[in-house]
Amino acid sequence: MKDPIVQDGDPVLRMKAAPVPKKDISSRKIQALIAKMKKALAAEEFGVALAAPQLGEPLRIFVVAGSVFQEKKDEQIPSPPDRVFINPTLTRLSKKKVEMSEGCLSVRGKYGTVIRHEKATVKAQDEQGNPITYHGSGLVGHIFQHECDHLDGILYIDKAVHIEEDEDMQSARAKLKEKHGV
Ligand code: ZN
Repeated sequence: MKDPIVQDGDPVLRMKAAPVPKKDISSRKIQALIAKMKKALAAEEFGVALAAPQLGEPLRIFVVAGSVFQEKKDEQIPSPPDRVFINPTLTRLSKKKVEMSEGCLSVRGKYGTVIRHEKATVKAQDEQGNPITYHGSGLVGHIFQHECDHLDGILYIDKAVHIEEDEDMQSARAKLKEKHGV
């Protein structure tokens, strides 16, 4: 079966994605793309976020799974909705940097250690075109930086200080899970 997510080696992952004009956010095309991104993310057991280029669309949009924003993991409480970030910019980055294990749906079978700013603030527009600001730390901060990189054609494997191949994605992800608890 063809992978629904664009994989490393496809030039679309290396393009600088184009901004979405504010007037286009409500368009059928963009709304359909956002819906497709949420669906693709939901289909990935260990996926936490997805950028539009990963579905072959070089546009400045990423979606983060709602579960990432849940403070306490509780089976009884449904996850908050996925969050959509359109035309995101990293406005503040902490001086302090931390190391974390990362994987990417576009680089299957590998995971690596990446050093990133511990905290990252993102300013963007939501799926209704309203301005949003979100302060992310820990895992969320790393995700913001990973996703903004996608929109500039950068993959985590370009920055990783250590990469491990693991054909068995389950075990790679399990190790990831151990390390940052997603
Ligand atoms: Zn990625």
